[in-house]
Amino acid sequence: MKKFDLVTIGGGSGGIAAANRAAEYGAKVAVIEEDHLGGTCVNRGCVPKKISWYASRVNAAIQHYGPGYGFKTEKTSFDYAEFLKARDGYVERSRRGYTSRFEKNHIELFEGHARLVSDHEIEVNGEIIYAEHIILATGGRPKMPDVKGIELTDDSDAFFNWTTLPESVAVVGAGYIAVELAGVLDGLGVDTHLVVRHNRPLRKFDSMLADALMEAMEQNGPTLMKHTNFDEYREEDGKISCYQNGEKLLVVERVIMAVGRQANTENIGLETVDVATDEDGFILVNDRHQTNTPNIYAIGDVIGKIDLTPVAIRAGRQISEFLFNNAKTSEIDYTNVPTVVFSHPAIGTIGYSEEEAIEKFGEDDIKIYRNKFFSMYASASWHREPCYFKLICQGPEETVIGLHGIGEGVDEMIQGFGVAMKMRATKEQFDSVVAIHPTGSEEFVTMR
Ligand code: FAD
Ligand code: NDP
Repeated sequence: MKKFDLVTIGGGSGGIAAANRAAEYGAKVAVIEEDHLGGTCVNRGCVPKKISWYASRVNAAIQHYGPGYGFKTEKTSFDYAEFLKARDGYVERSRRGYTSRFEKNHIELFEGHARLVSDHEIEVNGEIIYAEHIILATGGRPKMPDVKGIELTDDSDAFFNWTTLPESVAVVGAGYIAVELAGVLDGLGVDTHLVVRHNRPLRKFDSMLADALMEAMEQNGPTLMKHTNFDEYREEDGKISCYQNGEKLLVVERVIMAVGRQANTENIGLETVDVATDEDGFILVNDRHQTNTPNIYAIGDVIGKIDLTPVAIRAGRQISEFLFNNAKTSEIDYTNVPTVVFSHPAIGTIGYSEEEAIEKFGEDDIKIYRNKFFSMYASASWHREPCYFKLICQGPEETVIGLHGIGEGVDEMIQGFGVAMKMRATKEQFDSVVAIHPTGSEEFVTMR
């Protein structure tokens, strides 16, 4: 039987990061992956999504802003097949990078489905391997609602396999994925409808962000359908008709469901060891990422805490630091995690929303600073793209506990502010920094 110090089940963001870090400290490591190495982020998430977002921005630059800057743009066209070569070529190269790093670090890759058979043994392709420590990093997959005709619709995984663009699309959902894919498709010229059940998308975010996004959508698209909950999809005349209570509300060529994700915890042998899941199927872990069985850890989307690639990576590396480099703990800090929604324009957010801050600390303990301005990039070409920034400060020292922005370039602005917030920077310290002009980020240090 092959024996390893560490085996990660899942070769996505978390599993790869843990494996490489452990191997760098001399541990004997294996990774088991049943699909493409790189997992969701590289193959059907962050990477192809971001490249698609870039493509839609290139189109906006040409069609929207180009003429205002003096470019003659009437004769441009977009070849989706050419774009796919670029996008998928990049994904393929990223994947190869992981394989070569494994070779360099002497990590053994098993290609197949892994199943726990005891707390130290895993079965893959009929072989049993032994692991001193195991990390479950099996990630998640799109959740599909139980609605008539759902088989006519696609999920985000399927979107990344499209070989042509439709003329019209409905994107159903209200979170990151729905907002991002609707923005990308609209930006590439597809007649796009973002369909939300309630009054706005991104309800879990600071309300300023959703309001500003809806304002931008009203100007530039996609079309927002509020308070809509399709309960049936029918194929009619080669298109998909979307119904609610028997009424046909929309006809489109394709529908993408983006209504959340579920953990990959079935058929991995959890029942044979003492690893518990919550009612939604996410693996239960303590603060140190240990399951009920102490040598079996779980990280990333499969624990359903914060589903972001850098979070899975951080957790994976920290476990390896703990197991193989004498780190004090395998715990990581889940607070003040900066995050960006690649919408049009982009959204950046760290810490408490205004609503959460007031609920936690009370209105009297919170001071809010807001700013609205028009992006110079858009304004110079006769467009008005409003940008909104907000700081949420708490206590007499006005510690910045929330930072939110939507506008041109926000995606590349907030990482450094994340450092400041980790250091518990106050409003006064923000203001003590001399602004960089002319930029959008200067708004964060000049708010009154
Ligand atoms: P995954 O990356 O999902 O990896 C899990 C791996 O385990 C998969 O490769 C799977 O095949 C494998 N596996 C599962 N079961 C088994 C088994 N039994 N045996 C062997 N292998 C198995 N995050 C960001 O930070 N920024 C973004 O811009 C961003 N964009 C996203 C866009 C989309 C459309 C989606 C869907 C997600 C996006 N995310 C983004 C989230 C990010 O992709 C995930 O948080 C991240 O991939 C989680 O990493 P993980 O290691 O937990 O799981
Ligand atoms: P989210 O959890 O972000 O959003 C899903 C939303 O869909 C829900 O909040 C809900 O909003 C709505 N919804 C749920 N059920 C239904 C339904 N039956 N019909 C219509 N709408 C429904 O999930 P996503 O799948 O968008 O993304 C999963 C995670 O992946 C994200 O939370 C994020 O962590 C990560 N991700 C990160 C990205 C980034 O960093 N840029 C990009 C993409 C994903 P409501 O209640 O308002 O209707």
